[in-house]
Amino acid sequence: MEEEKKVKTAKAEDKKEPAKKAPAKKAEPAEAKKPSAAALKAALAQMEEKETGKKKNTVLWRVLAFVMWALAIVAMYLPQLGDLELPFGAMRMLVLKNYTPMIIDIVVAVALCIGAALLWKKTNHIHPIKSHNKVVQFIWNQLGLIMAFLIFFVIGLVLILKNDKLDAKTKKIAIAALAAITLLVGGVSADYHPVTQDEVDKVTQEYNIDTQDPDGCFWTTYGKKYHLFGDCQALTNTSEENLHHTSLQEAWENNRGELCSFCAKRATANEQGGTNAVTPANP
Ligand SMILES: [Zn+2]
Repeated sequence: MEEEKKVKTAKAEDKKEPAKKAPAKKAEPAEAKKPSAAALKAALAQMEEKETGKKKNTVLWRVLAFVMWALAIVAMYLPQLGDLELPFGAMRMLVLKNYTPMIIDIVVAVALCIGAALLWKKTNHIHPIKSHNKVVQFIWNQLGLIMAFLIFFVIGLVLILKNDKLDAKTKKIAIAALAAITLLVGGVSADYHPVTQDEVDKVTQEYNIDTQDPDGCFWTTYGKKYHLFGDCQALTNTSEENLHHTSLQEAWENNRGELCSFCAKRATANEQGGTNAVTPANP
């Protein structure tokens, strides 16, 4: 009896399988590869800039990121300025055995580096790199990681090894601490979903995005992002009077310029998107 049952279930599964597997197979060829959620978000952000005529000042963000990286170097390695006994420069504080300001300096430097990297990533996810060169793309997209490595490890290592006022044991501890900080800051700063302008252009071409479609998106009175799916998990606690169902254009005009990450992932993973506004033109 049991065996019969098993066979029956197996048969039932056999029947179901082809229907389930068919859409998955469609997505398999390399050319039909789905764009990344980050690429879709960038494509929509660029579309918003075009439609509303409001360009996001990403150049300023990039400058700000570099200023923050520079300030992180100051916090870590500021040399003594004449007779001024400024409590800056974690390395100098280490030599002076002045540990409280040293720790504060390190925390400030870590915060600045992480802030700079997040800003850099945010900028890249709106205006990605245009170069086709893989090396250039890597350096540009992972600049936060590279800066963390340079600031906390390379510079620190050179200065510690060159310093003759520190004993061997202190040097060892300092190098180990720098390595740990580098791992922490580098881990947060790395871009795990890098985007290129080529990918964004592909999404813009392939996805037939109708910015005027009145069913285009959802956003809430108190939320800053907009959603492509009315049943998005981020909307479950939203009451009906606070949920707005409008075109993308209208959402942008109401300062909802960023696509929800859950919806971005769903729109790029799902073959049948929930809305008509964002669906591939040639499925
Ligand atoms: Zn959402």
